[in-house]
Amino acid sequence: MADVVSECNIKVLCRFRPLNQSEIIRGDQFIAKFQGDDTVIIGGKSYVFDRVFPTNTTQEQVYNTSAKQIVKDVLGGYNGTIFAYGQTSSGKTHTMEGKLHDPHQMGIIPRIAEDIFNHIFAMDENLEFHIKVSYFEIYMDKIRDLLDVTKTNLSVHEDKNRVPYVKGCTERFVSSPDEVMDVIDEGKANRHVAVTNMNEHSSRSHSIFLINIKQEHVETEQKLCGKLYLVDLAGSEKVSKTGAAGSVLDEAKNINKSLSALGNVISALAEGTKTHVPYRDSKMTRILQDSLGGNCRTTMFICCSPSSYNDTETKSTLMFGQR
Ligand code: ADP
Ligand code: MG
Repeated sequence: MADVVSECNIKVLCRFRPLNQSEIIRGDQFIAKFQGDDTVIIGGKSYVFDRVFPTNTTQEQVYNTSAKQIVKDVLGGYNGTIFAYGQTSSGKTHTMEGKLHDPHQMGIIPRIAEDIFNHIFAMDENLEFHIKVSYFEIYMDKIRDLLDVTKTNLSVHEDKNRVPYVKGCTERFVSSPDEVMDVIDEGKANRHVAVTNMNEHSSRSHSIFLINIKQEHVETEQKLCGKLYLVDLAGSEKVSKTGAAGSVLDEAKNINKSLSALGNVISALAEGTKTHVPYRDSKMTRILQDSLGGNCRTTMFICCSPSSYNDTETKSTLMFGQR
């Protein structure tokens, strides 16, 4: 597969997972037809993206056509954000994380970790690297540190250069891909401890992994910084389908609000003509403000189920991506 062209800084990529066992047993139809490498057709309607990944696309192919270039750019001093959007069980976590310790099935984040250090080992010996990572989630508009369970409601501040950051969030220095993986394992374990039903919880919160890279030339003292946000969004499914009430309904409304705030920011950036980008409408968009649009590298994965059972939800996911 050829590398995705890199002149546009916002890319929307669409990925379809295969039918799963229970969908096959139920007799669901496979409703997606793929055309070329950028179009999917559902119910006679075409949806065009920068790229469409059919179900048989490997994790490695997805990485090579999406995140690989972004890693190079972040090492070159750019900021970036990669999102996964879609209904619960559409493949967001599979795409972002995959099976963390499986070389074939690992997703984007572990591949990024490996790639960063491979680049660094091949670079000028006079460059000194400081790489730190943070891992947090946003649930009901509250920011929870996944590396320190005592921090359950962190706030967003701006530094003296007006760069937004999550105040007090744990930062871990890492010096190898294994150390990055250890941090992810730790954060995931903390997330499990804090909640009773992990699947439900992860579908209702946004999880954000931040990689911050600073480099300094030992002789010239010249500095270069880049950071990359990796965001596994809450499930985008509509409330009505689950017939939710009470706290579940509040959660759903909150998720809808934060996802539409994100959609509004990205479409304002994509249009490029808008003077007002509504970053302040949600905590997530505030945090991501200096890593979205402009010179930043932004990639959105639109994750879809191919099953007839999910067809309404899939169409609405595709429509979100088309904006
Ligand atoms: P989400 O995070 O969107 O809720 P998951 O990533 O957990 O969904 O995916 C749901 C299930 O489908 C998981 O068991 C996952 O391993 C599987 N899956 C998702 N995408 C793929 C894919 N492209 N190929 C094979 N299995 C997949
Ligand atoms: Mg998930």
